[in-house]
Amino acid sequence: MSLFDWFANREKAEPPSRVQQQEREIADGLWTKCPACAVLTYTKDLQANQMVCGECGHHLRVDSDERIRQLIDAKTWQPLNDHLQPTDPLQFRDRKAYQDRIKESQRSTQLKDAVQTGTGLLDGLPAALGVMDFRFMGGSMGSVVGEKLCRLIEYGTLERLPVIIICASGGARMQEGMLSLMQMAKISGALERHRAAKLLYIPVLTHPTTGGVTASFAMLGDLILAEPKATIGFAGRRVIEQTIREKLPEDFQTSEYLLQHGFVDAIVPRTQLKRALAQLISLHQPFSPVLPPLGAEVKRLEKERLTQPPIPNSQSLTPNP
Ligand SMILES: [Zn+2]
Repeated sequence: MSLFDWFANREKAEPPSRVQQQEREIADGLWTKCPACAVLTYTKDLQANQMVCGECGHHLRVDSDERIRQLIDAKTWQPLNDHLQPTDPLQFRDRKAYQDRIKESQRSTQLKDAVQTGTGLLDGLPAALGVMDFRFMGGSMGSVVGEKLCRLIEYGTLERLPVIIICASGGARMQEGMLSLMQMAKISGALERHRAAKLLYIPVLTHPTTGGVTASFAMLGDLILAEPKATIGFAGRRVIEQTIREKLPEDFQTSEYLLQHGFVDAIVPRTQLKRALAQLISLHQPFSPVLPPLGAEVKRLEKERLTQPPIPNSQSLTPNP
């Protein structure tokens, strides 16, 4: 008997135990274990409940595709600028080259960078939506994330749309140095013009929203919503404790703590988010002033600018000869 036959016979003789069976099914993705209460839920049931644990209400992480499916009416999503690709202007390398990190994230997520932007209907109401994706280098904000969000907001201003941004980010992308920090000012500027046009902007803070994202567009909303128990902060807890030499409360930097202290306007469970956003948009509509329409030609040129490929950069991702 060959070794292979011996293993084959052995497998036939011993049916897998319940625990082995369960482990296999988790590995196959049939079941998902809640990281908060450890209860196993059939993955399809969990997805039907928008990845919120039915047992303890824990909000599991969702990617940007799933988030768009949850919020935008079927077949109405129109992506904007999904051709924008990051470059490596500083030729940055830490333990790994930045170029390799980008390629790896692009392969595993099938995205070009850490945000998806576009327009669609939200319970029948038109809106401009940006969704950050934490899987792509921790949702960090580099020039592409900044540029896409900026163009989304400018498109919203042009088309008089409310803008919603689902935040999930570790902060600015240090591999792009100063260029990533400049995105904070750039997006804030675009938001100011959107505000001056008396349009509605709502950031939704999900777990985690930190660093440069918190320090710019996440905190500039007309109304700021958050998901329950999300970590929201600027600097890390340990850094603050060491700086002020004080112990911080247990729930520091959670949605609930920020709501109590006035940084967040409402905590909305994910299963009610679409309805809440639609309600807020329709409540705001009567206040949107009717402005004289832009000249057709101005509008066409502006629209073209906001959906154009970027000016070709001398530093591209193709390796240097
Ligand atoms: Zn749970």
